[in-house]
Amino acid sequence: MILNAISAPRIFDGRQYHSNSALLWRDNHIEAIVPLEELSSEIPVQLFSDSIICPGFIDIQVNGGGGVMFNNDTTPATMQTITEAHRKHGTAYLLPTLISATPTKISEALLACQQALNDRLPGVLGIHLEGPWLNPAKKGAHDSTLFYSPSLESLQQLPWPDKGQLLITCATERVDVGALSWLEAKGATISCGHSNATFEQLPAEKLKHIDGFTHLFNAMSPLEGRAPGAVGTALLTDHAWCSIITDGIHVHPQSVLLAHRIKPKGKLLIVTDAMGSVGSANDQFELDGEVISVVNGKLVNQEGSLAGAHIGMDESVANAIQWGIDEAEVLKMASTYPAQALKCEQLGYLRPGFKAAATVLSNEYQSRAVLVDGKLY
Ligand SMILES: [Zn+2]
Repeated sequence: MILNAISAPRIFDGRQYHSNSALLWRDNHIEAIVPLEELSSEIPVQLFSDSIICPGFIDIQVNGGGGVMFNNDTTPATMQTITEAHRKHGTAYLLPTLISATPTKISEALLACQQALNDRLPGVLGIHLEGPWLNPAKKGAHDSTLFYSPSLESLQQLPWPDKGQLLITCATERVDVGALSWLEAKGATISCGHSNATFEQLPAEKLKHIDGFTHLFNAMSPLEGRAPGAVGTALLTDHAWCSIITDGIHVHPQSVLLAHRIKPKGKLLIVTDAMGSVGSANDQFELDGEVISVVNGKLVNQEGSLAGAHIGMDESVANAIQWGIDEAEVLKMASTYPAQALKCEQLGYLRPGFKAAATVLSNEYQSRAVLVDGKLY
């Protein structure tokens, strides 16, 4: 394979900035970042003016995009539509996310994931199951009639993929340590979410099985003076990452800044929690037969509850920078940190030997191009 190159006035490699340099890759791997003046004239280079190149964005919670919802059609074709819609927003890789569903639908989704991974569908890292092992008191837009506490037998019956990343959001107060350990042994990353846990329901022996907390502040027991809740526990548990939605609607910007101040470096990461309306001209879609509409930039169900977000990763990044978090840190919150949360060792940095994955943003943080598995889109 020939050597390829892209260049921009600024490249952020996940650790430091390089000015007027080019990112070089061959096949699916990064070779180097070199100053433009040292680049051989034989290497074709695509120049992006007024731009910044950073590690490819990774969104670990995407329910839909391009007018489709993963829940409505659990197929590799839907995964492809979703990844294409989010690529326009700078996302190189994502986890298609299944909202609480029946065991039959969960099985279909897991098989579709296996198929997508076998076929090397660009941009799909694995799957995120958000439920149905959730707490009805924090159901959000999920159908709580589908919720249950999983037995080992019910977990064993599902066709788990044998490759890729598996992220499971569950209300850990409703899942026993035996089930959590079984999922861990399957290679799952466990995140506590849609949880009404008290601080006392999240003791150390449970927390050691919890890798993260899903969409911090949303659909979880709040932090109060006499009751730290899931939010307080998430903020206090240094080993656990927290994902957060930065659309300015789900979480107040000041609460995002507060979480950023409290969590150790690397443990706060951005998710979009995007729905089918992202990258689509339609401002309505169906979820489990219920109509979800965009009203003033908010996605709401018929009860008026927030039902996911109407935002892309590039806009989420722009918001967090505008609110005052350092640019390099925000770029890592959308790339390096989610890669670490999922233990993807070859993603999250622009380093020799790492996967050829990058996001090119305008100086206003709008996506201009995305490099996925060595292909520039
Ligand atoms: Zn949720």
